[in-house]
Amino acid sequence: MPSIDDRFLAQHPRSAELHAEAARVLPGGITHDIRYFDPFGLRIERAQGARKWDVDGNEIVDYVMGHGALLFGHAHPLMVETVQAQITRGTHYGSSHPAELAWGQAVQRLLPSAERVRFTSSGTEATMMAVRLARAATGRPKLLKLRSHFHGWNDSVAAGAQTSAGVLKTNGLLRALSEAVTVVDQTDVEAMAGALASREYAAAILEPTGYSWGTCPLPASVPLALRELTEESETVLIFDEVVTGFRVAPGGAQERLGIRPDLTTLAKVLAGGLPGGAVAGRAALVDQIGAHRNGDAVAHPGTFNANPLSASVGARMLTAVADGDPVGVAARQARRLCEGFNAALRDAEVPGAAYGDASLIRIVLGPDVPRPAGGMTWEWGEAGAQPTMPPTPAEIMWPFRRALLNHGVDLIGMGAIVSCVHDDRDIDDSIEAFGAALSDLRADGVL
Ligand code: PLP
Repeated sequence: MPSIDDRFLAQHPRSAELHAEAARVLPGGITHDIRYFDPFGLRIERAQGARKWDVDGNEIVDYVMGHGALLFGHAHPLMVETVQAQITRGTHYGSSHPAELAWGQAVQRLLPSAERVRFTSSGTEATMMAVRLARAATGRPKLLKLRSHFHGWNDSVAAGAQTSAGVLKTNGLLRALSEAVTVVDQTDVEAMAGALASREYAAAILEPTGYSWGTCPLPASVPLALRELTEESETVLIFDEVVTGFRVAPGGAQERLGIRPDLTTLAKVLAGGLPGGAVAGRAALVDQIGAHRNGDAVAHPGTFNANPLSASVGARMLTAVADGDPVGVAARQARRLCEGFNAALRDAEVPGAAYGDASLIRIVLGPDVPRPAGGMTWEWGEAGAQPTMPPTPAEIMWPFRRALLNHGVDLIGMGAIVSCVHDDRDIDDSIEAFGAALSDLRADGVL
């Protein structure tokens, strides 16, 4: 039987050629750190629903899902119709337009904390603006953040971040900026309290469910405690809901937790699969932005802010989130997938676990970590929640990812993002592929 690597090379010759050519144009041959793949990433030609097809004609069940932007899967009819209707009417008016208002109102309908909404072109721009608004409002310099939590690649939030590609590389960052950031373990409420008591912090920012790479799902007690501590110290509380917004619940993590943050950063599902982000929250904070203000404003230009294409698609897809149950459907399919992965690990007697939250799954292979008994996460009980999870060692991860692709399944890092169009066949095929990949790893002596 051919090895995992022989099969990978035999199945993907055209991708290999295109990768070699791309490396002479694009750094590393890629355009986003997460798309790094050893020895080369597949080149995709088209996608529909939960599946995509590469340039060698392989069909793949996709769990990258536009880095989490595609709650409705690829080329959803609602999105296609909306793009087609808008594109012939123009894509940039250089003026205000009705679709941006509809988009803002759709955000407000789902997110009661969004007294005002300012659109950006990405999540990175949204977190950059949120931190700046907090500094402007409080006159304080510092930012408190949680270890490994990822808020995009802008300078204000980069310190202590982790992505699926590992710890965020911060070469080129001004040291003074990193020094303005205090990073604490995500369950260390005492350290948070100690820092905030100094009243030097403009804001505390977190991914409220702890979805970040390298962390465990965060117990609700942490964001609840942070809400109290930030109120006491008059610090701005920023929920980064770029991933969780409109996904873990229609109104994001804040709806599920029953917490009203001061500011929320949004992107991904927000724009229905097109580029777009937003900072939303208390009017007194967000209204600091504006050319209409004299002198004391926070500036915010941005050529593609709320462009008519993103705005019309975003408004349409958020309306579908509010009127239907895509969030619930995706979460139910993710739970089946997660339980299927854990059953396959148990059957193959491979150490590791699949775990997660709503329609977001993480996988650890190799380290002997506890496995959720059922569902997607653990009952920590007396043991207390774990702040971190060990990563899958690279010498297991890459053969595993190659084996899984040989069997037609693509992950994002060591995670899976499920959409509301992953049907039972997609899930069953993926569980079977997962089991087959584990067998291949055994046959190749990797496990
Ligand atoms: N915040 C979180 C929690 C994210 O996961 C990401 C991107 O993955 C960002 C911010 C940055 O968003 P973008 O990639 O749109 O700049």
